[in-house]
Amino acid sequence: MNRKVWQASGHEAGFSDPLADCKKCKNRFRPDKLENPKVCPMCGGELTEPRQFNTMMKTFVGPVEGEAGLTYLRPETAQGIFINFKNIIDSFHPKLPFGLAQIGKAFRNEITPGNFIFRTREFEQMEIEYFINGSEWEKWFKYWVNEVKNWLKIIGLDEEKIYFHDIAGSERAHYSKKTIDIEYKFPFGQDELYGLAYRTDFDLKTHSEKSGVDLSYFDSETREKFIPHVIEPSMGVERTLLAILCEAYQEEKERVYLKLPFALAPYKTAVFPLLANKPQLVEKAKEVYKSVKGCFACAWDERGNIGKRYYSQDEIGTPYCITIDFQTLEDETVTIRNRDTMEQERIKINAIISYLAKNLS
Ligand code: ATP
Repeated sequence: MNRKVWQASGHEAGFSDPLADCKKCKNRFRPDKLENPKVCPMCGGELTEPRQFNTMMKTFVGPVEGEAGLTYLRPETAQGIFINFKNIIDSFHPKLPFGLAQIGKAFRNEITPGNFIFRTREFEQMEIEYFINGSEWEKWFKYWVNEVKNWLKIIGLDEEKIYFHDIAGSERAHYSKKTIDIEYKFPFGQDELYGLAYRTDFDLKTHSEKSGVDLSYFDSETREKFIPHVIEPSMGVERTLLAILCEAYQEEKERVYLKLPFALAPYKTAVFPLLANKPQLVEKAKEVYKSVKGCFACAWDERGNIGKRYYSQDEIGTPYCITIDFQTLEDETVTIRNRDTMEQERIKINAIISYLAKNLS
């Protein structure tokens, strides 16, 4: 059975479905999805009467706590985009289809936070509202499925661990006509990484109705005036990071390393003098470091022995390490070590930049 159906997950902010707690193991369930709504399906314990939870974070604006200042922290970034829609239309006059992307904090009073940074009560969302003519929604939905697939490739996730889960009508948010959850096989189980939803014209229409401001779009070619519909890819920063780390983490006999796609590695390279107590080596290494740093994110390390320095760069996923040794002082060559194979090559100092440019691309 799909975990989400019977065990409580956040599933969209707002009032949750009624949930019952197990008095013994403290897990929380949707009783309407259980064979026996009085008995815990995990430990057989007794379940409480169902209760509703509000997953929106409540607060009060202003110095006096009262109904007039009652407000809620946003549970998704999407609405900011709909609020900006008119500004964009009026100042840039974009033609459909076009997308607006925003990144920012979202807050949900999650019932069961956990699994490291997978589910937290404060998190960062990256959302795109892609405005379209409603008659073309299927075409643009397919387009976004492909774009998401391309993105997953870029961040290096294994295709075999990704699932596109078509959400049934009864499980979808009320405003959505089609939703696909993009799930990833995390070490703790398969769960939602991103969402992709066709939200119809629900949001703009509702903002327009409640504010009295016309949010329709005028198509100058067809002379049609209508409220655009949206396709929304919705992505969590923390879940992206967690999936990338899970995918990249590698353990070998004598080392642990992060096999990050090169584009995601925080440092592309690191420069070391073989020995920190030989001023000539340090001086030469500093020279190399300064020249490489101008082109690539580059770390400097002169602590401990060279082996430890390699391993500490491996742990943060640095693809190439450059070492300045005694031979460098004689012939202007350095060793360059590959993170994944641990193989070392000797190259000329003046070839370092082109070597990195070629191998990191
Ligand atoms: P779930 O079913 O896991 O609670 P959801 O369906 O409620 O997720 P959406 O409302 O579709 O999530 O939110 C879009 C994206 O925001 C999710 O795919 C996820 O990447 C991220 N996200 C949602 N809730 C959280 C959270 N509590 N902590 C971290 N990221 C979250």
